[in-house]
Amino acid sequence: MSWRDTTCGALRAADAGRRVTLAGWADTRRDHGGLVFVDLRDYSGLTQLVINPERAPAAAEVAHDVRNEFVLQAEGEVVARAPDAVNPNLPTGEIELQVDTLRIVSRAEPLPFQVGEENVDENLRLRYRWLDLRGARMQRNLRLRHTAIAGMRRAMDELGFVDVWTPSMTKGTPEGARDFLVPVRLQPGRFFALAQSPQLFKQLTQIGGFDRYYQIATCWRDEDLRADRQFEFRQLDVEMSFAQREDVLDVLETAVVASFEALGREPPARPFPRLSWHEADARYGSDKPDLRFGLEIQDATEVTRGSEFGVFAGAEAVRFLVAPRAFSRAELARLEEVAKEWGAKGLAYLVTDTSGEVRSPIAKFLSEAELAAFRSEPGTTVLFAAADGPTVSRVLGGLRTHLGRELELADPEQQAFLWILDFPLFERDPDTGRWTFVHHPFTGVHEGQEHLIEADPGACLSQAYDLVWNGWELGSGSIRIHDQEVQRAVFRSMGIGEEEARAKFGFLLDALQMGAPPHGGFALGIDRFVALLAGEPDIRQVIAFPKVASGSDPLTGAPTPMPETTLRDLGIRTIVPEDQA
Ligand code: ASP
Repeated sequence: MSWRDTTCGALRAADAGRRVTLAGWADTRRDHGGLVFVDLRDYSGLTQLVINPERAPAAAEVAHDVRNEFVLQAEGEVVARAPDAVNPNLPTGEIELQVDTLRIVSRAEPLPFQVGEENVDENLRLRYRWLDLRGARMQRNLRLRHTAIAGMRRAMDELGFVDVWTPSMTKGTPEGARDFLVPVRLQPGRFFALAQSPQLFKQLTQIGGFDRYYQIATCWRDEDLRADRQFEFRQLDVEMSFAQREDVLDVLETAVVASFEALGREPPARPFPRLSWHEADARYGSDKPDLRFGLEIQDATEVTRGSEFGVFAGAEAVRFLVAPRAFSRAELARLEEVAKEWGAKGLAYLVTDTSGEVRSPIAKFLSEAELAAFRSEPGTTVLFAAADGPTVSRVLGGLRTHLGRELELADPEQQAFLWILDFPLFERDPDTGRWTFVHHPFTGVHEGQEHLIEADPGACLSQAYDLVWNGWELGSGSIRIHDQEVQRAVFRSMGIGEEEARAKFGFLLDALQMGAPPHGGFALGIDRFVALLAGEPDIRQVIAFPKVASGSDPLTGAPTPMPETTLRDLGIRTIVPEDQA
């Protein structure tokens, strides 16, 4: 006996007269006293079953017992529906199955929510994820994910990339997050770190002569969970030898386009636009600007040098945005809160209302030249930030993103891919004041700037690049350092001495001494990419079994405490603060 000979989404008018067996879930059941209708569902769609007690009395008995989400097997004849019963919204809507034999294969308890029900609490959805996965949303998203990745894999294969598996349990790799640790029973007191990325291993595949490496790699990072962050996530991880930046960008664009094509969608035009980090910062206040709308930042530092408005005169940088709306006082108060979240002390503004009149508490301090520089159309508001350069960028970048969302400035039909190039190599660590890497410490410096690595770290530009889609950072990469002397200089300028460098990355330094080809690569965050493809607001909707913001998994209940004996075997004693026990 086979469970089925076709699927629930397959039958059409032309199949009328066929005898078929279907298997699936009871999506809904309508008992009309005599006739019973059951919509039978599987991954491919729904077929309406009709159980007529006159035609099949035994099946009708069974049908009375059926409840939502029972698994059924039904055998019968495909018949054309009467014209007034045709359902044009259903691919199988022209037919139904007149059931002769109905079998309950598996029963279901009363359900915590209905499959396909909207606005179900997310914890509940995740607790009973198997039910949630049955619904159209997750079916669509995970299949879309599969297809997008399949397109990428095909492209990488055609381009000659070799899929190499790298270890999850390793030594810490600095990607700027905390490590998850794995204790080792055979060596109590010692730990592996779960790979924050395969970074050093993929570099070693190049030093190992593989020329082109890729992997759909899992990465683990102990960071706060957000809409676009989980503890574990996957990336299209790439590394290639004898490559320049352009070669890497070209491969990534090919992979992105291949995903769009695999999904049958119009791919973004190539080459993707590019902006230097510096320009992105100056014009958009962000290293991941959404270019589906303008709202560019303008500079007012020069014109405000002698300003009578002290806040402007004394600030290192004064810049502004012109929002396409004359905001009310209440709206401005809310915008000020947003600006403060990004580090502003306040929010100076000039509102030009629809009649052209200017409302502003600071106008009286501004000179003719200043007012002329800030003059804007009726129905607009000029919003200022005055502080040090980085703060001004952050504040106006934050306001720009906020306004883009609030005023719905982005064209939802548009897909804005963008490369950000020429990041700084180093930045100051706000806690220690020391220089630290912007991308990771294996990133190459701009050719010809090697001598600046220690002499003037802040002036070094890196060979790192990011890919941005509609304001989301999709991933990063760089041309790497392949010269051990340069690598050592980078470590030194971050205050990592010879001993520490050897302890942490000795294997890399050794490898760099034994014939390292120039190489570079990239990692594209699959979860973010797929969430955007699916039009979902967060990556949990494209991950089969994600964790919630607190870092737990509602399905399994993990993480859980471990028995004392297990911990003893591992050489571990826990000290949990009482309020967290
Ligand atoms: N290892 C980097 C990351 O995971 C990507 C790269 O530089 O290739 O973000």
